[in-house]
Amino acid sequence: MYKIQTSKLMKEIMGNYFLGMKEPSKKIAWCTSVGPAELLRSFGFEVHFPENHGALLGATRTANDLIPESAILGYSNDICSYLTADIGSYLTGQTPLKEHYGLNGPPKPDIIVYNTNQCREVQDWFSYFARELNCPVFGINPPRHVTEVTKEEIEDVSAQFKALIPLCEKVSGLKFDIDRFREVLKLSKEATDLWKQVLWTATKSPAPISFFDATIHMGPIVVLRGTQIAKDYYITLLKELTENVEKGIGFLEKEKSRIYWDGMPIWGKLRSLSDLFINNNSAVVASTYCNSWVFDAFDERNPFESSAQAYTEIFINRSEEAKQSILTQLVHDFRIDGMIFHDAKTCANNSNSRFGMPQRIQETLGIPTMVIEGDLCDLRFYSEGQSITKIETFIEQIESSGVYSH
Ligand code: SF4
Repeated sequence: MYKIQTSKLMKEIMGNYFLGMKEPSKKIAWCTSVGPAELLRSFGFEVHFPENHGALLGATRTANDLIPESAILGYSNDICSYLTADIGSYLTGQTPLKEHYGLNGPPKPDIIVYNTNQCREVQDWFSYFARELNCPVFGINPPRHVTEVTKEEIEDVSAQFKALIPLCEKVSGLKFDIDRFREVLKLSKEATDLWKQVLWTATKSPAPISFFDATIHMGPIVVLRGTQIAKDYYITLLKELTENVEKGIGFLEKEKSRIYWDGMPIWGKLRSLSDLFINNNSAVVASTYCNSWVFDAFDERNPFESSAQAYTEIFINRSEEAKQSILTQLVHDFRIDGMIFHDAKTCANNSNSRFGMPQRIQETLGIPTMVIEGDLCDLRFYSEGQSITKIETFIEQIESSGVYSH
């Protein structure tokens, strides 16, 4: 059975990351997953990402017990299930971090920073904890749903990044050091370039990494970007995957179809979905989600402007027009035969099926598309039996439609 050997190293790295939060020697910053992590790291903060905890609650299927708890505070079960699961975890003291790493919960923050480039939900979520934990909070509010980011918008976001500096100085007790910021951004850029190369190995057939594998291997680029550890990790992973491509080894011996997954993962069903596609000889080789941590624009020579651009031009923050053009390019690059749009009930922000995108892709690119209803964490919105039938029928449809050409 195909196995990515570097997975062992990833477990070790992620374990050390969480264990390092147990009795932290550094001050702790909480940050949104596509927030200004590099700037925070330049002040010596260790960075915790509440969305990462949300994903863990989903993957371990503890989220469903916790989501109803946050309703007590008035958080609807229809809003972001990362938010409701994470707040539920805080209210009940239940977290998989306990069993896996001996932590009683996420580390207590010294500063909380969010960026609404992905959604307004993070503002409510992070502000709740700021009130609850009596912690200073800072929000970056960039323009939303941009087609291309303009010079004026970069200046605006860049100014917001700079406005965070006095608070970071106060909390960390350190003066801002632009050279340190440049160093961290350079490391982040190197890691993100490597992460992109890792993902792009799947343009080859047979692909050496699937979307489902990538959701696991993305851990370091999310939580450790800006560190040497993340960079070294992706050097090792890329080496293994490149060697597998050269040897003609992939997670499927023979790919009968190649699929793009749009939207969020269904964390609690990663394994069963991965097996379902593999058993049908269908390779899910690319995704919007894993590509979200590819930041082409980072440039340490212009650290503020390039960070502002990179974090504002992320896929989730683009107009429908820009998203369609990005998806079209990816369909070509990865030689995609069909697209699955995950309509995540509690995340409209990262569900791209609601305004006719699947139909437009189908019409313009001539590949079949389908929509699967589910959620990132809340499995009450996912019907397994129905989804299996839909996916298997979709794969048959691709194979019989003649678009398949590998
Ligand atoms: S983008 Fe979606 S899943 Fe992520 S924090 Fe916002 S609402 Fe939640």
